[in-house]
Amino acid sequence: MAIQSINPTNGKLLKRYDALSDEAIRQKIALADEAFKAYGRVPLGHRALCMRKLASMLEQEVEELATTITLEMGKPLYAARQEVLKCATACLYYAENAARILAPESIPTENYSYVRWDPLGVVLAVMPWNFPFWQVFRFLAPALMAGNVGLLKHASNVPQCAVAIESLVRRAGFPRGTFQTLLIESRQVESVLGDARIAAVTVTGSEAAGRAIGAQAGWLIKKSVLELGGSDPFIVMPSADLDEAVETAVKARCVNSGQSCIAAKRFLVAEEIYDAFEERFVKGMSEMRIGDPMKDSTDIGPLATGQIVKELEEQVQAAVKAGARVLTGGERMIGDGNYFEPTVLAGVPRTSAVYREELFGPVAMLFRVASLDEAIAVANDTPFGLSASVWTREPGEQQRLIAELQCGAVFVNAMVASDARLPFGGIKRSGYGRELSAAGMREFLNAKTVVISSALPGK
Ligand code: NAP
Repeated sequence: MAIQSINPTNGKLLKRYDALSDEAIRQKIALADEAFKAYGRVPLGHRALCMRKLASMLEQEVEELATTITLEMGKPLYAARQEVLKCATACLYYAENAARILAPESIPTENYSYVRWDPLGVVLAVMPWNFPFWQVFRFLAPALMAGNVGLLKHASNVPQCAVAIESLVRRAGFPRGTFQTLLIESRQVESVLGDARIAAVTVTGSEAAGRAIGAQAGWLIKKSVLELGGSDPFIVMPSADLDEAVETAVKARCVNSGQSCIAAKRFLVAEEIYDAFEERFVKGMSEMRIGDPMKDSTDIGPLATGQIVKELEEQVQAAVKAGARVLTGGERMIGDGNYFEPTVLAGVPRTSAVYREELFGPVAMLFRVASLDEAIAVANDTPFGLSASVWTREPGEQQRLIAELQCGAVFVNAMVASDARLPFGGIKRSGYGRELSAAGMREFLNAKTVVISSALPGK
């Protein structure tokens, strides 16, 4: 079978790769396994040197890499540049902090005891297309600094990004086999994970992928981290700075053309300010500039695949059928390319299927709430639990929201964003485990307890 790179602005084939044969996959796993045995002896200082080189290559090659991203999955070029440069920050963070995170932890007991952090081995990373560099680097940087070895199964629609990342790692000086791209289809993942030489797996993607891979990892008793979907609430209370809240709300819904797990998807607005918010939010959404992602003037590019447009269209139609009102947008755009209008839905019934689903494109659901209690109840009334953005100047409200929202991160008077220094991940059906920060690095480490008796030998 072929893996195809298709330009989402016009549907034209950019490049085509043959999926690896079973034999080719076996050879790559064998190389990764060999690489792991030797890589443990590479001093941390040398790994950090390679990681810094990787960061500077990302900076130097930003234009070419960003263009590959935009051509292949359609995000605006300015956003693709930001993504590549963000990857450099993750490389530098782990180059600078790995020694601290990996330092043995002394634990006082009656003996000499401590915990040391050992790498697990070859880690399989199954990654999505929406941030085709950043999603990979937030696995790659901590994994390689920790002494693990990576095998990347990237999404089938971004093979050029996958190949480019492997090339960058190799050119940065990491030993051969420490990071390889497997150009394979999703149905081939099962046999890779089933190989005894694969120690662990990390998945970023849909619930369906997480469930399938997580179930197999559980059966095999292999460590797994799942970063899955989200339907993040954006809560606006009466004391919020309305100008800033509206401006951020539009940005938070349309980031990455709406295709972000941590994009705000449900807007819960206090009754007192609802009408003002609705008017301005709808205006802001309708003024977003849709078009050629290569142009600096474009806010929203095409969605990555025709399938995403189809699913989004079906979800909007189902919401309308269930009783929702379309305040702006609501349709796919006619012509070449996978374009969908920025859309605001109001009155999505809480009994409808769409209410509980993730909308992976520029479609917002707007709800009026009568109190903080109701805002919290609606925010938590979802199968997901990734993150939340809350807008209030009342310290008491802030504290309740921070404590009572069921999710992996709460941002107060700010848009949710990932940061290499902060743990990232969700609860409920958004998955388990964390990426980034020390927490992310430790997911694929063995916390090995060491106890050396203080009694003299022979006593
Ligand atoms: P997806 O269809 O699940 O694909 C993600 C990856 O999983 C791809 O590499 C895909 O390969 C592979 N895959 C899919 N089904 C599989 C299966 N049954 N067995 C093995 N591998 C499988 O997800 P997507 O639509 O590309 O990405 C969007 C989703 O990712 C959204 O739900 C979004 O919220 C979530 N996401 C979460 C985070 C987070 O950090 N929590 C970040 C970004 C995105 P193929 O491409 O070959 O099918």
